[in-house]
Amino acid sequence: MQVQPPTGPPAPGSAGALLRLIRDGRAVTRAELARVTGLARSTIAQRVDALLEHGLVYEAGGSASTGGRPPMVLAFNRDAGVVLVADLGATHARVAVSDLAGTPLAERASDLDIALGPDACLGWVSERFQELLGEVGRSREDVRGIGVGVPGPVEFDSGRPVSPPIMPGWDDFAIPEWFADRYGAPVLVDNDVNIMARGEHWVHWRATEHLLLVKVGTGIGCGIVADGHIHRGARGAAGDIGHIRATDDPDVVCRCGNIGCLEAIAGGQALAQRLAESGQEAANSRDVVRLVREGHAGAIRMVRDAGRTLGEALAGAVNFFNPAVIVVGGDIAEAHAQLLAGVREGILSRSLPLATRDLTIVPCRLGDRAGVTGAAIMAIEHVLAPGAVDRLLQAAA
Ligand SMILES: [Zn+2]
Repeated sequence: MQVQPPTGPPAPGSAGALLRLIRDGRAVTRAELARVTGLARSTIAQRVDALLEHGLVYEAGGSASTGGRPPMVLAFNRDAGVVLVADLGATHARVAVSDLAGTPLAERASDLDIALGPDACLGWVSERFQELLGEVGRSREDVRGIGVGVPGPVEFDSGRPVSPPIMPGWDDFAIPEWFADRYGAPVLVDNDVNIMARGEHWVHWRATEHLLLVKVGTGIGCGIVADGHIHRGARGAAGDIGHIRATDDPDVVCRCGNIGCLEAIAGGQALAQRLAESGQEAANSRDVVRLVREGHAGAIRMVRDAGRTLGEALAGAVNFFNPAVIVVGGDIAEAHAQLLAGVREGILSRSLPLATRDLTIVPCRLGDRAGVTGAAIMAIEHVLAPGAVDRLLQAAA
């Protein structure tokens, strides 16, 4: 199953294109739609009727008018279905059911080891989906789309992980096909950092064209928003900054097998391991954050140093890509006062002045919900793309 191109070339002013104008608030009356598209009022009326019939828009009442009968305002019906989303990390998962505006209606978070393999993990996800649908009083028929994030590179068009290093059994596994027997809705799959970047960008930085979201959790990854779109690269591996060489020290051995990777110095797992070697109780990135919060001087210094190393590696990306905003998320970013101070130092010490002049470096505001939010937006933007809406209406005609 191939994912249809989300935007296609819809006819200008098609019903799907009108829905886009209404959703964006660019034109919300029939007269405005006619003005913006240049189409005849009668054509607009016909296409708006089709959207009304399918429950995609509703008439929200009269707008303020200078006289006469106020024109009827059209509003997007965010309850015209739901999307199911899952954000699967290395050891933790979050699932949610969202309305068509991307607002979570119910959600669950739990420990889940991705190394259990696709059948066990997706089985767990599917059971939670059923529970969540029941909780919000919806059925499988209401599901318009499914969005899934996984902690590895993904071939986006087919929804298959590509040689994911920490996901045994998942290589080339067709995640959309697994769901196809259970739901008659399109399934979109992307890397976990990409869905975080999409969520944070959509909610807080939509006017920003060029943004990097750096996730510092167990490992380190980077989601790239270029010209307002997720940039995945040729094989879905763009932004894999965790394995940039950050030191020549032969003792720094990475889980990828190479020496001196950024992640092996500054990733949450590496920090936890070093704290454990110094006698602290630390098994994972969340323990590192706990020690920082408790004021443990060694942990604080270590996170700040990790930030600086990360910043020095990011300086190359800043010079190369010239982002306007860098968002820092992931477990370790919970200790953002220390981490971001280090990241700023590292970037400013190594980047060109022009590239950093207006550069904003901030913590991820959606926190651990950035992933499910982005997965919902990924699914919604696909099913409500003008071309997809036109196909839906044509199929029903
Ligand atoms: Zn590595």
